[in-house]
Amino acid sequence: MADAAPGAGGTGRTVVLDTGAVLAGLGPAQSGASGGSSTRFVAPERVRDEVRPGGPTGRSLERQLDAGLVLVMPSSVARERVREAARVSGDLAVLSVTDVDVLAAALDAPEGAEVWSDDLAVQNVARRLGVAARPATGRAIRSEVVWHVRCTGCGRYPEAATPAGECPVCGSPLKRTRRPPDGRRV
Ligand SMILES: [Zn+2]
Repeated sequence: MADAAPGAGGTGRTVVLDTGAVLAGLGPAQSGASGGSSTRFVAPERVRDEVRPGGPTGRSLERQLDAGLVLVMPSSVARERVREAARVSGDLAVLSVTDVDVLAAALDAPEGAEVWSDDLAVQNVARRLGVAARPATGRAIRSEVVWHVRCTGCGRYPEAATPAGECPVCGSPLKRTRRPPDGRRV
């Protein structure tokens, strides 16, 4: 089973939608599912946590499910690979658990998958993982970014955040910056 060519049209392409793409009505609801397309659209189960049942967002999700969207539960192995890549790129602090699952679902797809997301952190980590990503509705990143994480309190650049995502030294929130530690002003 070598040489699967992701995105090379035709047989069994999988597209993973993030919450924004689901709610924007992209994918099955847009293409009408019955058009003979072999594209399989999936989204992580956690998308359910981000919609309000009975509200407009809940109804959007129901429409997508009716049109053929499949909700999946990613493996913990894939989730850990995503977190590790995001840790290295500095995106971990801004990835939601649903974002992690979107990328993990792509890693779990047997023949590879493409991710549709407007989230620049999701796109950035996708590149790092070798997963094809395209913007769902809006912006695409032009190149891979390595973020530095800086403490908003003490100004340090900690190696790692606490499990709660805070500065291990002073406990203040961390913020991403493109400025590396040695380019420090102030
Ligand atoms: Zn600090």
